[in-house]
Parts: sequence; structure tokens; C-alpha cells
Amino acid sequence: MNDLYDVAVIGAGPAGSYSAALLASSGHRVLVLDRQRAPELSPLCTGIVGVPYVQMMGLDDDLVLARASSATVYSPLGRQLRVVSPRVEACVLDRALLEQRLRNRAMSAGAEMVEGITVSHADREAGRWLLSGVRDGCRESVTARAMILACGVGPELAQQAGLEPPRRFLVGAHMEMEMDGVAETEVYSLSDLASGAFGWLVPVGSNRVRVGVLAYSGAVSLTRQFLERAENRNRVRSSLTPLLQRPVPLGGASRTVAHGVVSIGDAAGQVKSTTGGGLYFGALAARHAADVLGTALDKDDLSARALMRYQLRWRKQLVQEIERGMLVRRAYNRMSPQRVDDIIRWAAGTGLAERVLGSGSFSFDRHTSTLFFGLIRAVPWLLRRSNTPTPEVDA
Ligand SMILES: Cc1cc2nc3c(=O)[nH]c(=O)nc-3n(C[C@H](O)[C@H](O)[C@H](O)COP(=O)(O)OP(=O)(O)OC[C@H]3O[C@@H](n4cnc5c(N)ncnc54)[C@H](O)[C@@H]3O)c2cc1C
Repeated sequence: MNDLYDVAVIGAGPAGSYSAALLASSGHRVLVLDRQRAPELSPLCTGIVGVPYVQMMGLDDDLVLARASSATVYSPLGRQLRVVSPRVEACVLDRALLEQRLRNRAMSAGAEMVEGITVSHADREAGRWLLSGVRDGCRESVTARAMILACGVGPELAQQAGLEPPRRFLVGAHMEMEMDGVAETEVYSLSDLASGAFGWLVPVGSNRVRVGVLAYSGAVSLTRQFLERAENRNRVRSSLTPLLQRPVPLGGASRTVAHGVVSIGDAAGQVKSTTGGGLYFGALAARHAADVLGTALDKDDLSARALMRYQLRWRKQLVQEIERGMLVRRAYNRMSPQRVDDIIRWAAGTGLAERVLGSGSFSFDRHTSTLFFGLIRAVPWLLRRSNTPTPEVDA
């Protein structure tokens, strides 16, 4: 670890490992640093992705635990809307195995991997990044020409590197349970429990179900209330993993580039504002980062100006979806349980969901236009301005 690397990637999550694999395979000397060791991985993530992610990443079949072409959406008052697509819309991944495979892919491409190190300092000295951290109680350091920050949410390293971390957050809670009678994905509006909250049950085979809640705060206690509901209480058999929560960035970060450094994935807020899903957007941004950084390294121009192409590219591809998702989310925040129920009744009555899915125009990863224009048709008052504050949480 004492040599000079072209790139140090902090974080071997899905975004960091993918960017490392791309940079290493284009001939760059890459070091990946992560505080977690591969055998200990137990990611707090449901692992649902659209088919384009599976194809783009070239994932093996054994990573896909389930394929979904239908789901049932429940209003807080119990009304149901079952949506069925003629094609597979989403896949549920073995999330821990995904992360291990992506780490292995990075190493096979030539990247070096140091696990069990928590990086605490990033300093720029003599045109290089000096990164230091602690592994097994000992302080270690490494030098690199450039750095990719892929360490998820957490402002410290971003601020040290001169980047702007995400400022607003949701909280996602997750656990795996043994449950009866969950045959397909079920999505529940929890707007009766907390404004803007929703929950999900995602079966992954043999009565194993991934349970999650996304909310502005208190996601763990909301999950308990969600599972205590009459429709769930009798189906729960046992918990297979602990119930834990972590922040989910809301809205892309405004500065993801500085001299010799870029941020990607959750560290850059590249997450869908509606569902909190970040695997696909993080991977798209990782490709842009690897491409722009690779060229900058080859030309020996790591200035913020040269790297700005990365920010322009990912924003061009993702920012409309992220911002439109914020509008949908704000509209949802303002809805009473009765209003959510009215919309689900309206959608069931008009058959709109079926028509959209049948038309082939729906995209799991770019669904905000469908939701946005569907909502405007259902409840035109949403177009009117409101002074109602949204409960978004600032860092
Ligand atoms: C409850 C929940 C459910 C979700 N479900 C889905 C879903 O179904 N589909 C989907 O697409 N997305 C989902 N997400 C979001 C998804 O998990 C994230 O967007 C994705 O994991 C981000 O990947 P990343 O590589 O950017 O960051 P992370 O996965 O957070 O990886 C960051 C890595 O950096 C390491 N690290 C952090 N700090 C340091 C440090 N100081 N030193 C060294 N290493 C460090 C960590 O150990 C970690 O390995 C969910 C999130 C939550 C909370």
C-alpha cells in the first residue's frame, strides 16, 4: 500500500467496485479501500432493480433470486390496485453476493482491495491525495493521483475533499422475515402513520420476504407498526435478520467534482427520489466517472475543470428523473390517507396502470413521468402551489 496509485476508491459498495473494475480494465492502477470485509457483508438493501441494471452489469443468473412482473399496491384504507405487466419489470438480487461479485470483478480486472480499513482523512499534498485510516488498530496511509468517493452517505470525507455531500435524507429500514402468503411484491402507502412514508414486502423464495419502510424519520418503529397491522400480523413467522435503518439521500449533490476527486453513488445523491433505489443510478454514474477520470489521468489533467465533464454527464442523464421524483414525493407528502385511497380507486377504475404497462412505455428506472402525469390527471389540484411545508430532513 505504500506505492503511488492512479486512483484510490473509498468504498467497495456497488458503485465503488464497479468504477474500480472499469478503471482497472482500462489499464489504471487502482486501490479500493473499504471498512467492511467481504464475508461480513449484510447490506441494508432490498436489492430490487430494473432489468436494464442486470443487463448492463452482465449479472449471472444465480444473483437473481426472483423476477417480478406484477405487484399489488395498498392504500392506507385497505383498497388494492393490482398491476400486471406482460413482461418482467424488476429483479430481486442476492444483495450480499452482488457486492462480493463486484469486488471480485474489480480484483480480476487488476484493482487491489484493502478491506477492514476505515478511511478518516483525505488531504491533498504536493498534487497527490494522501489518505489515512485505521486497520486492525494500526494507522495506515496511501497516496493516489486521484480519488473516487464511493463511501455512501456521510459528510466528513466529502467535505475534506472539497465536495458537497447530499443535504437532505430519507430513512430506510430493512429486515428479512419468514412470512406466509406473500406471493408477489406488495407496496403499502403508510401515509396514515407518517406523511410521505411507504412500506413493502418482497418475496425472495421459500417464504423468505424482504420487509422495508422508507420515511422521513423513525423508519424502524414504522416498520414495527406496519408488521403489527392485521393483514401482516398473522402472516409473520419469524425474523431472519435484525431490523435496521440507514439514511437514503434525497436529491443529487450539487458539487460532485473537485481537483482530483469525484463522488459517485449515494455519496453523490444518485438515488431515485420516489423509491430510494440507488443501484442503477449509481452504476450509470460510475461509468461516467471511470470514463472521465480515465481520460483525465491519461492526459495528466486532473483539474476540477477537466473532471467537470463527469458532473455534466451524470446530471444530464439523471437529474430530471431525480427532480421530477421530488415533485411526485412532495405531492405524496401532502396527501391525506383518504386522498391516497381516492387515487388508487381512480387508477383501478380507469385501468390506467394496465394500459401504461401494456403499452411498453413504462420504465422501472424512469417511472416519474408516468407517476407525475398520472397524478396530475387524477388530482389536478396538485398543480396548484401550496404553502404546506414538506417534512424533508436537512443534514
Ligand atoms: C432499506 C433500504 C432498501 C433499499 N433498497 C434498494 C433497492 O431495492 N434497490 C436499489 O436500487 N437500491 C436500494 N437501496 C439503496 C441502495 O442500497 C444504495 O443506493 C446503494 O447501496 C448505494 O451504493 P454505493 O456503492 O453508492 O454505497 P454503499 O452501498 O453505501 O457502499 C458504501 C461502501 O463504503 C464503505 N465505507 C463507508 N465509509 C467508509 C470509510 N470511511 N472508509 C472505508 N470504507 C467506507 C462501506 O463499508 C460500504 O461498503 C436501499 C436502501 C435502503 C436503506
